[in-house]
Amino acid sequence: MYKGHVLLLRAPRVHDGSLHDPLCNGGVRIEGGRIAAVGPFERVERRGAQVIECEGVLLPGLVDAHVHLCLDGGSDPGRRVQEASPVEVTLDALRALERHLSAGVTTVRDLGGVHGIAVELGRLIDAGRLLGPHVVAAGRLVCITGGHGHFIGREADGPDQVTHAVRDEIKHGAQCVKIVATGGMMTPGVEPGAQQMSEAEIAAAVAVARAAGLRIASHAQGTQGIVASLVAGVDTIEHGIWLDEQALGLLGSSETALVPTFNAARGILAGRGRGVPEFIVEKMERAAADHVASFEAAVEADAHIVAGTDGGTPLNPHGGLATEVAAMVEHGLPVAEAVHVCTGAAAAALGLTDRGRIEVGCWADLVEVEGDPTEDVGALGRVRRVFKEGRLVPRSESAADDRLGRLTRRVAPHEV
Ligand SMILES: [Zn+2]
Repeated sequence: MYKGHVLLLRAPRVHDGSLHDPLCNGGVRIEGGRIAAVGPFERVERRGAQVIECEGVLLPGLVDAHVHLCLDGGSDPGRRVQEASPVEVTLDALRALERHLSAGVTTVRDLGGVHGIAVELGRLIDAGRLLGPHVVAAGRLVCITGGHGHFIGREADGPDQVTHAVRDEIKHGAQCVKIVATGGMMTPGVEPGAQQMSEAEIAAAVAVARAAGLRIASHAQGTQGIVASLVAGVDTIEHGIWLDEQALGLLGSSETALVPTFNAARGILAGRGRGVPEFIVEKMERAAADHVASFEAAVEADAHIVAGTDGGTPLNPHGGLATEVAAMVEHGLPVAEAVHVCTGAAAAALGLTDRGRIEVGCWADLVEVEGDPTEDVGALGRVRRVFKEGRLVPRSESAADDRLGRLTRRVAPHEV
């Protein structure tokens, strides 16, 4: 019903999600939940619209390209997700959604979870039965037997099993594909630098994703697995800790985007003595300097860069996208690109044509922030108002202390 409401937002500056200069004294007309017009305020049709004056800067709703709604961002989420009941994990995921939305994140890509929870919550949100960010969920990630992330994934060995696994996730509602090409931090006994899926297995997954018209993300930390993923043509490289010259060349000359997930690294690095398992901290400490150096080199190599937090991993609470983008700027991303990497560029990497931009026809997912993040990246964290599909997210639902938050905190006392 709210979709019939016509709004006209006026803001001193409007960033449309591209790298273009902002629009000054801009107007954004919203009809039927979508953007009907955008331009200088005086030229945008006012008829029948309720005018909302924004004092802050208007941006597209933010896109977090890498989250795990089923992981709670506490000290040991891997253990938690394996021990908690499906209902408990669902409550964790609801809290995660609430945190993202209140941080101005109106789209998340979930790259691996359990019990089909992210897929189902995303379906309920799209159906208008639950308020939350739009969810692009991978379902369970696909890894080798005993491979990294198996506790939020499914195991498959050989191209035939990988083909079946990816097709089966799609059958069960996955809207993107996630494969694990290398080892990682959170799984005991695996080396982050080591390749896990073979070239043939990665190629099989890419072929199924392409045939289904879906994008595919590859968890790739070690060089060999990164290169194999790039050669196979995945859409995003997650983490990309050890990029060599070949990987940088491939990244710089392709449409594949790098999602560095600095929040995940920083959470783990802060984890010693705070309950994060020692093996995770130890692995991350070995990787941290190379992770930063690889990102700096990727920026230099003109790679496509997209923001994703890996929200839910150890001491990495959901809703931290502003912190992630600030870390990217700290490590060499031009501040002028701070909005683009978490709006237009992220939506493009996810294959979304109707979100992440303030353009006629797009969903009216918008966030008003205090200050201009392309001058002061900290402004991304100063959220004033959030609109999801043309609807102002009520304070009671967007504030961190809302009723759902209080309710679920009672059953999830391990909050960071
Ligand atoms: Zn992840």
